[in-house]
Order: sequence, then C-alpha cells, then structure tokens
Amino acid sequence: MATDNNRFQAIISHCKEYGFVFPSSEIYDGLGAVYDYGQWGSELKKNIKDYWWKSMVQLNENIVGIDAAIFMHPTTWKASGHVDNFSDPMIDNKDSNKRYRVDHIIEAKADELEAAGHTDQAELLLKEMDSLLAENNFDGLKTLIENNKIVCAISGTSNWTDVRQFNLMFSTEFGAISSDDPEENKIYLRPETAQGIFVNFLNVQKTGRMKIPFGIAQIGKAFRNEIVARQFIFRMREFEQMEMQFFIRPGTQKQWYEHWKAARMEWHLSLGIAADKYRFHDHVKLAHYADAACDIEYNFPIGFKEVEGIHSRTDFDLKAHQEYSKKKMQYFDNDIDEATGKPYGNYVPYVVETSIGVDRTVMMVLSEAYEEQDLSTDEKKDSRVVLKFPVKLAPIKLAVLPLVKKDGLPDIARSIINDCKQKFRCFYEEKDTIGKRYRRMDALGTPFCVTVDYQTKEDNTVTIRYRDTMQQERVSIDQIIAIIQQEL
Ligand code: ATP
Repeated sequence: MATDNNRFQAIISHCKEYGFVFPSSEIYDGLGAVYDYGQWGSELKKNIKDYWWKSMVQLNENIVGIDAAIFMHPTTWKASGHVDNFSDPMIDNKDSNKRYRVDHIIEAKADELEAAGHTDQAELLLKEMDSLLAENNFDGLKTLIENNKIVCAISGTSNWTDVRQFNLMFSTEFGAISSDDPEENKIYLRPETAQGIFVNFLNVQKTGRMKIPFGIAQIGKAFRNEIVARQFIFRMREFEQMEMQFFIRPGTQKQWYEHWKAARMEWHLSLGIAADKYRFHDHVKLAHYADAACDIEYNFPIGFKEVEGIHSRTDFDLKAHQEYSKKKMQYFDNDIDEATGKPYGNYVPYVVETSIGVDRTVMMVLSEAYEEQDLSTDEKKDSRVVLKFPVKLAPIKLAVLPLVKKDGLPDIARSIINDCKQKFRCFYEEKDTIGKRYRRMDALGTPFCVTVDYQTKEDNTVTIRYRDTMQQERVSIDQIIAIIQQEL
C-alpha cells in the first residue's frame, strides 16, 4: 500500500493557507483531532451535504429527512449497545505512555511489510489480526504484536501492556447537579446520528404515512473520543455524518443491502472519481447489530481507507428500543404475502444503513482535486497548484475580475456579479495582476474566471477562462450564466 506522505502534508498546508481547514482554537495551540472549516472549506462541505441530501431525499420519494438533537435520553445508548460495546481494543506502551488502537499498529506494520516487498507476509498478518479480532482474543493480539516485533513509534520499544477495551463515547452532565452520584446526571454526546432516527421511527412513519420500504436520512454531528487521531480530518473527535436508515420487511435485507451497496457506489462515481480509486471491504468482525457489513474505501494519499459504511443492521436497534422503552416499535404491513395469501401483518422492520462521513468526503474530494502542475516552457519556469473540484462542489463557481481598477471596468464586473449571484456563488477580485488572480482562483478550485477589459465596454464581451484547460475564449456577457449552468 504505497502512501504519499508528502502529498498528504501538501494538501494539509494548502487547506490552511487557502482558508479551507484550520486547527481548532489555533491561537491556543489547537485541540487534538478537532478542526474548524474556514470560508472556503465550509462552502465545500455545504455543497457536499447538499449533493448528498439531494440524491438521497429529494430524488427518492420514499426517503425523508430529519434533524434530531445531539443529546438523547441516556437509556438510548444502553439499548443501542454503545455503553457496553462501543469500544476498541487498545494497547499502551509502558515507556512512552502512548496509547494505540491495536488494529492501527498492526495495519501500519502490514503497510511497512508491503512497502518492503513482503506482500505475502503483510497479507498473512492482516488475516491473523482479523480472525483474532473476530474472536475478541486479546491475548492472541498481544502475542501477534510481540511476534511481529511491532514497536512504539515514540519510544521505539515493544514494552507493551495487555490489550484492553476503551469506550469511545464522550459524556457530560445534564442540567443542575442535584445528586451526589455523578452517574445520575450523566449524558452522552451521540457517537452516531443513527439512534436519533431509530427513536423517531414511529413518529416519522405515522406522521408521514410512510409505507415500507422507506428511509429516514439525517446529517449531523457525532462525537468519538478517538485515541489515535493524527490523520487530519480523516479521524476527528467531533465530526459530521450523513446517514440513512432504510426500513424493510424482514427477509429482504440481503436484496436491499446489495441495492444500497450499488447505489452508494454509483453516487461516489458521480463525483467524477475513477472506479479504481474505490474498493469494497467486507467486514470480518461484524458489529454487535449487523448481519452483513462493508465499507466503501477510497485510495487516499495515506492509502485505501473507509469513507462510508453500509450495514445490514437487522431489527437489532428497533427491538432493543422496544425492550428498553416498553413502547411497540412495530409496523403493520397490509401488503399480501403471496405464500400465505394473507397480509404480512405486524413486525419490527429490518434496517439497512448507509453511513458516510462528511469530513472524510471533504478529504476525499480534496485529495482527488489537488494537483501540482509544472507549466515551465523553454523561456520561463512556471507552475501552479489547482484544485480540480467537480463544478457542483466547487466553493466558488465564478470569479469576476476587472483587468484594471479604473475606467468603469469594476462597475461592469460588479454588475455581472449582481446578475449571477442569485444563481451561484461568485467572487470579485481586483487586486494583483490578472495572471496572479487566475493562479489564486486555481488554488481555490474556481472553475470559471471572467475578465472584464476595455473591449467589454465596446461590445459587451468578456474573456472566460476555464480552470482545468486554462483555455480562454471571448463570449458575450449574457452567455455567462448559461455556460456555467450547463456544467452544474
Ligand atoms: P473507523 O473504522 O475508520 O474508525 P468506523 O467503522 O468506526 O470508522 P462508522 O461507525 O461506520 O465508522 O461510521 C460511519 C462513517 O462515519 C465512517 O465511514 C466515516 O466516514 C465516519 N467517521 C467515523 N468515525 C470518524 C471520525 N473519528 N472522524 C471522521 N469521520 C468519522
């Protein structure tokens, strides 16, 4: 698994320099694995969320969206299994006091073996790890780490503690603290948005008169106290998810699981990303709620990693909430079962979930778009950094640039912006030479620049420049909107 650390670092620097992503509370030296989106990052993120919402909710008659609260009744997380099961096996190095996720250090070792040409050994190591994880065999995992001479990146030693489980949920106190027992007021920050959908299943089904199969979608924040969190916005402690729970008749889960696997992969390909940059990864160790699960992985500069999970969650969640809340989570299906000639009747629906991280999608889109180009000729050295975003995701669609700051050219540029800004995000810039302004727009991923010059005053035409080809052509002002909307 070749990784390209330099490229990854270059993307991180670019994000900071051009207002995409900043470390959180940077003036206080930041906060581990927490990031803020700047002026262009937040536009990009919003466009990604809008695109997902449109393809899931707007284009599917049987999917509706909700926006549930982050705080939920604490019993939610007992019922969902997160209090007891939402943990990862960890190991500490006694010399550096650094804590690692066991699967992460073993995977890093496999990467190292692969890079050194020992592909068979790397594959064997991952296979052994998968089967030990599936059995929850912690002693076996520790032995595997020791036998493969895996050392701590900080201390360089293999002086390891035993492997233990750590819960990843954040907790806080809710309301005034009235009791001596802090546990009584303890409330969790949701580690996934899905449970907000499950507890509202009946509310939505009844008020929306939804008929199975139907889906409930949601975009929102989730929080996980990740132990190893040094991969920029790939692994954050506060992040955003776009999830959809699809409620189905029991017994049809295999068919719907395959349906959503294909539909979600199609969505990924519609971002203009080549098929060989993606792969499916089937889970060997299934989560406590699933009867089948896979990840869609993208080939990031740090290797193939998960962007989205597709999980066949059975009736685990609804049944668990039914049991803990003592409220029925049933659906009455009056469609006729051909086998019996009678209606299917009452049942707790099964669920297939699609769950994609907004931030990982931002990182995927940035990784895909980032290009350093050498444009040198015999006469002069030249280069540019360009973000080749799909037009629909680009933070700015159109930059309007008056050639000079005088002679009425800025006024024409402003009036073009006034005509276009209702339709898409525009940007006005008059500082610096036109060449420098083009380069800056390339670095922000702006697909179209329009330059207003003296000829504009005579014939109402402008130069439109295309980001990817850098080609320019003369068009009349009233063609601009149509040219851009065609690409959108
Ligand atoms: P991983 O194995 O990488 O920790 P996961 O399998 O725990 O991820 P899920 O619980 O399936 O992740 O969550 C669904 C999606 O939410 C993931 O595919 C990912 O895009 C996103 N996600 C999960 N954890 C994080 C995180 N710490 N930071 C950013 N995105 C995350």
